[in-house]
Amino acid sequence: MVRVRDLSKAFGGNPVLEGVDLTVLEGTVTALIGPSGAGKSTLLRCMNLLERPDAGEIEIGSHRIDARSRFSKRQLYALRRETGMVFQHFNLFPHMSVMRNVVLPQQRILGRSKAEAEHRAQELLARMGLADKGGQYPNKCSGGQQQRIAIARALALEPRVMLFDEPTSALDPEVGAEVLEVMKELAAEGMTMIVVTHEMGFARNVCEDLVVMADGGIIEQGDPQRIMGDPSHPRTRSFLHAVL
Ligand code: ATP
Ligand code: MG
Repeated sequence: MVRVRDLSKAFGGNPVLEGVDLTVLEGTVTALIGPSGAGKSTLLRCMNLLERPDAGEIEIGSHRIDARSRFSKRQLYALRRETGMVFQHFNLFPHMSVMRNVVLPQQRILGRSKAEAEHRAQELLARMGLADKGGQYPNKCSGGQQQRIAIARALALEPRVMLFDEPTSALDPEVGAEVLEVMKELAAEGMTMIVVTHEMGFARNVCEDLVVMADGGIIEQGDPQRIMGDPSHPRTRSFLHAVL
């Protein structure tokens, strides 16, 4: 289970998240939508402590951190290790081969041997349809390929939950569709995922849960088809009107 309780975060006195509560069940996929500036990225970044929340609790599997109390670096890394993050702009290491991108974090973070890490990397790259790309550099790969490399790199660390922040926004639609297909397969295999996205087809057909954020809070949550068909909050209605 992934749970956020009463999470708050401000930047320079401006509240960006205010008392956010969210529970994501193991093996489910949650879509996170809402207007620009709603706090979607900040929420994901707080969940893996890339951003330090001002208050609130984050629980992932057996790891729990209360932002208000002291916690060690070790606790922070233990919690972060449970998450895999995929960004809009891939964030691959440009000076390393595709293989090295997927291998290095496994060595550094999981302490895997080179051989073991390469074996896992090859397995994941093959699954992403990139079996022959290991020796390339990221900038020689298409955007869709780079995003699938980023997904392989995150999966290689065997996270409990995958956090996606608009993984297809920087891609052409057909290339984005390949990435969504990979994510759909992960969902079918039971990966727990939280996906910030404007892909309403993906939200409707793949996600069990839809979470709508506005102004730093969750304004509506539930079955995607229900919310898309009959939103109860006026801000959800206007947002859906704009994206559908
Ligand atoms: P978008 O759909 O545009 O990605 P979002 O819902 O992801 O929007 P966030 O990126 O979480 O929104 O930003 C929420 C608010 O917090 C915005 O007003 C943003 O300017 C502010 N913000 C985010 N990160 C920082 C930061 N590091 N420093 C200052 N303000 C920030
Ligand atoms: Mg964002």
